[in-house]
Amino acid sequence: MSSSGLIVHKFGGTSVATSERYRAVANIVMARPEPNCAVVVSAMAGVTDALVRAVELAGARDPAYRQALDALRQRHLQTAAELLDGPALATVAGALQRDLADVDDVLRAAWIVRHSPRGAADMVVGLGEVWSARLLAAHLAGCGAGGDWLDAREVLVAEPAEAAARVDWEASRRRLGAWAEARGGVPPMLVITGFVASTLAGVPATLGRNGSDYSASIFGALLGADQIHIWTDVDGVMSANPRLVPDALVLDRLSYREATELAHFGAGVVHPATMRPAVEHGIPVYIRNTFRPEAPGTRIDADGSPLGGVKGISSVEGVALLNLEGPGMEDVPGTAARLFAALRETGVEALMVSQGSSQHSICLAVPSAAAGAARAAVEAAFFAERHHGLIQTLEVDPGCTLIAVVGDGMAGHPGVAARFFGALAKAGVNIRAIAQGSSERNITVVVDGAEGERALRAVHSGLYLSRQTLSVGIIGPGVVGSALLDQLASRVEAIHDERGVDLRVRAIAKRSRMALDRRRIPLGHWREALAAGEPFDLDAFVDHVQADHLPHTVIIDCTADEGVARRYGEWMRRGIHVITPNKRANTLELGYYDQLRALGRGPGAHYLYETTVGAGLPIIQTLRELIATGDEVERIEGVLSGTLSYLFNAFDGERPFSELVAEARRQGFTEPDPRDDLSGADVARKVVILAREMGLRIELEDVALEGLVPPELQGGGVDDFLCRLRGHDEAFAGLCREAQARGERLRFVGVVDREGHASVRLRGYPATHPFARLNLTDNIVQFQTRRYSPNPLIVQGPGAGPQVTAGGVFADLLRLASYLGGEP
Ligand code: ADP
Ligand code: ASP
Ligand code: MG
Repeated sequence: MSSSGLIVHKFGGTSVATSERYRAVANIVMARPEPNCAVVVSAMAGVTDALVRAVELAGARDPAYRQALDALRQRHLQTAAELLDGPALATVAGALQRDLADVDDVLRAAWIVRHSPRGAADMVVGLGEVWSARLLAAHLAGCGAGGDWLDAREVLVAEPAEAAARVDWEASRRRLGAWAEARGGVPPMLVITGFVASTLAGVPATLGRNGSDYSASIFGALLGADQIHIWTDVDGVMSANPRLVPDALVLDRLSYREATELAHFGAGVVHPATMRPAVEHGIPVYIRNTFRPEAPGTRIDADGSPLGGVKGISSVEGVALLNLEGPGMEDVPGTAARLFAALRETGVEALMVSQGSSQHSICLAVPSAAAGAARAAVEAAFFAERHHGLIQTLEVDPGCTLIAVVGDGMAGHPGVAARFFGALAKAGVNIRAIAQGSSERNITVVVDGAEGERALRAVHSGLYLSRQTLSVGIIGPGVVGSALLDQLASRVEAIHDERGVDLRVRAIAKRSRMALDRRRIPLGHWREALAAGEPFDLDAFVDHVQADHLPHTVIIDCTADEGVARRYGEWMRRGIHVITPNKRANTLELGYYDQLRALGRGPGAHYLYETTVGAGLPIIQTLRELIATGDEVERIEGVLSGTLSYLFNAFDGERPFSELVAEARRQGFTEPDPRDDLSGADVARKVVILAREMGLRIELEDVALEGLVPPELQGGGVDDFLCRLRGHDEAFAGLCREAQARGERLRFVGVVDREGHASVRLRGYPATHPFARLNLTDNIVQFQTRRYSPNPLIVQGPGAGPQVTAGGVFADLLRLASYLGGEP
């Protein structure tokens, strides 16, 4: 095809909402590379709606129509004054006032007769485009770039029809030719009104709502354009409506057929009629963003994308489902044909039809507004069958939503339907009806209207996002939580690039505040985000993290709070995965523990808590693998507290014990109140966690605990405690000397054996024993098993500290992602 060097650009209402946007539009067209262009414009955003409303108000004798007109007058005069001055402003303002005077006459007539005929209504409703075109042309003239504009009512001939107006191509071509001839040719830059036309008899008409896109492709065909560029407020056609699905992606390329299907199923960014003239003349259509002119946009042409597969998902709200059932439908040939004929006669368009292969039932979806008409048509057409009981039910449910997945060549991708339905099942959405076009270019389902948005998001996440996309919520950014967030900040991007794991921290909460982000919290600035956040509300936090549009949700509990731990069960039942270094949950009553473990083993949610024992050391994992591979654990014994490890590694009987404790506290090796470490309660919890992991049915009270806080020092403040501890220095030194005399070192250990004996206390170990040779805050755990006998399996290393603990939690998170990647 020869090149005309002309491109038709169309700017929608959102692109010309304010004077600033008109300037942006002018800049875009002035910077164009092609020699000739036509610029089709919509009315300013909201103006068509306002005009439609004014017509309705006048017809209903509501004087508010005058205010509506005044507001429009003000808005246009104001915008004109911001863009123009001198005679240009006077001309545009004068024309506007004359038009509004005409509108006033027409609406007064409507008021009197309580009705406005279609031609009169169309004349009023189409004026938004006329004002917009005049304004843009005058502004371009002021910029020294042309200034010609074409009122499409003078050349475009179309008959209004139910869906899209029917263009009279012959007459339109003739009139456009005459228009151009009178001006010595089509000017190199021509502004054209979108949306409006007139009938052959000269009555003002419109092309139907959103008709400016259609105008653009009609003029593209009439002017022999090389391309059509439709400019709007998004980067192109997206995989789903971005207002409903925050993670929608921009599609690079679509075929005309895909674009038409998406338009048919309600993707507001393209409209069905638009494609027709483009297809007939083979003109590629681009959808582009006025706010980001540098973005490439979506190209729509005959070939589409070479990749095939699913392209877009769209939804249509306000759909009624009609279900026709009975034995009489079985053998009667042509039941479906009769059904269609009946609908066609009433002008109802079926959005979807599905017939089971048993042919016992037919089900169809129509716009809710047409439900009554559709029902009447079907009842009339099948009157005889209903009368004879051959059709027993005709149900109509008006409150449904239709969801369609569209893409050429889905036929070549057999997994699409499975993922589509799988995603709906996982989200617990009930499917009311299913249809697949025989072209296999779309699959359509109907769901309850109330579940429509959730269903759309779930399907989008199932089809577009990696299975390893996780919505992450972190509670309790104390020392461990903060370290985790900082570690995530430095690794999240690399993990995404290297492993395809998309970790999106979307919520962070502490006791007083929480930060929530629809997409992801910028991890480099999580502290600022939290400081600027909202008051903490755990329920709101959880609801936010569990987003329908992302495949998985995980909550990481970095608190030591029992109240939070008590919520895990409920979260896991909702399908939320839980990761925690918080020892509370696994040491609450056995009944709760059993629930959590059962939930964690079930299909819905994973439960990971490696860091509850030994921080980042692989202790739980090791124990699990021993048991899973059939080993029998006889006994676990270990130094399980980093603090107590440190104290007894340093305690030689010479330096007073109280002094060591005070120093350890100053260095941050103990809890703020060192009694929380010395009591041994923390070690007892770890023993319970290990014991239960071994399959033992024990409670915290079953652990024989001999702590190191003398009974008379249990009350009172921390300073008082540290002071009075001196009175016990001699006793501690005595214990140490006795051990030394036996050639032993003192260690504070937890022990559990397969009979369920569990204890936590100070014990002596020979100097050659591995427990006797520890460094700093080392933990050490010794597994005596049937296989590891007589020599036990030993895990040793730093078992406390924010960095190693956070690293362990991080590892749990990656483990979770890899489980999820392997799941169907
Ligand atoms: P204009 O004012 O430019 O004519 P519209 O509001 O008619 O713009 O259409 C653009 C809007 O369509 C977008 O802002 C977006 O919210 C909506 N939309 C619906 N579905 C899609 C989709 N699949 N891709 C992109 N945008 C969509
Ligand atoms: N202004 C018209 C409407 O809002 C046409 C269009 O913008 O496409 O329907
Ligand atoms: Mg539009």
